[in-house]
Parts: sequence; structure tokens; C-alpha cells
Amino acid sequence: MEEQKHICTACIEQTGGCCTDIEISMYKEEAAPFLKLKEEGKLPEGHTVTQHKNDEDIWEYHSNEEACVFLDPVTKGCNNYEKRPVICRTYPVQWTKVKVKKKWLGIKKKKKKKKMQFFLDTYCPLSHRVPLNDFHRWMDDLPDPSYVKKIGELDFEYKDRQYINLTVIQNNASPPEIARDLRLRV
Ligand code: SF4
Ligand code: SF4
Repeated sequence: MEEQKHICTACIEQTGGCCTDIEISMYKEEAAPFLKLKEEGKLPEGHTVTQHKNDEDIWEYHSNEEACVFLDPVTKGCNNYEKRPVICRTYPVQWTKVKVKKKWLGIKKKKKKKKMQFFLDTYCPLSHRVPLNDFHRWMDDLPDPSYVKKIGELDFEYKDRQYINLTVIQNNASPPEIARDLRLRV
């Protein structure tokens, strides 16, 4: 945990990490600290907090290429740590529903079925340092997976080449399946 913290601090100092130029989706309770700043006129110019165009229960925060309003410029820590959105807690793990082929599900139906799957964003330096099994556990620790389900489905494009499918790897898929999922990035 301490090592992860050091990696994140270095990453934020050097590149801004995942707390800069952000576009995150969150439920209203998670958006409350951002909305409060907006109401008080304390959001930096260009930062926006708006309702998601496809779902009025979800709010979006965009920091317009700048650091998140809660990123402390001195310590590089989060000033909203206890109430930070779920997406901030789980990154670089993201999730969405994917049409799964029958052999992955172990069923005989020909129709493809949508199943929740988890992905690892390899742009994040942590993804190269933390064992994959640890990332699986991160998602086990979520307070209520159904709560976060919708957010993952709304905004995440899992087909981008930078993502590794953690669910496929966890299910002991064959090497060709894993290679295909990695999209032969090497
Ligand atoms: S989670 Fe990844 S991208 Fe975000 S600050 Fe840490 S190392 Fe950087
Ligand atoms: S709320 Fe905290 S963890 Fe999330 S983007 Fe802002 S500074 Fe980073």
C-alpha cells in the first residue's frame, strides 16, 4: 500500500496522473462535494459539473485539462479522500458489460450474453507494478457492486488497446484468448 502511494505521488508530480484532465461520472451523493463548490462559485474556470446526458441520476465532472479541484498542489494528495468517487477508488480497474461468447460462460446457448467484466488500464504505472490478483481484490472490496455498475456501463470504452481484460485472465482463459484480449500489443 505504501509503495502504491509512492508510485501515485511520483506519477502525479511527473504527469498529473489520473487526477488531471479528468472526466468522471458519479452518483449524486459522490458528486455532492463537487456540486457544493459549484454552488459556492469555487470551481476553477472551465471546470464543469453537469448531469449525464443519458442518465439524470449520474453527474459528470470535467476538469478541462487541469488538475482536479480536490488535488492538493503541494502534497499531491486528494483533499476529498474520504468521499472521493468510486471511480477514483478503483482506477486503474474499470468495468462494463460485454457480450460474452458461450465458451467463456460454459453454457451451450448460441446467443451471446452480456456479462460484467473488469479491465485494467495499462496507461497507469500501477498496472505494471501491482500483481493482477491484487487488482481482483480491489473490486471485491467495493461496498456495493450494483451501485457502481451503471457508471461503468455509461462511459468506459473497453475496446481501446490499452485495456487488459482482468475477468478473462481470472477465469483461466487459454493463452490464445488472453493474447487476443491483449490485442497483441507487444
Ligand atoms: S492510479 Fe495510476 S495513473 Fe493514477 S496517480 Fe496512481 S499511478 Fe498515476
Ligand atoms: S476526487 Fe481526489 S482522487 Fe478523485 S480525481 Fe479528484 S483529486 Fe483525484
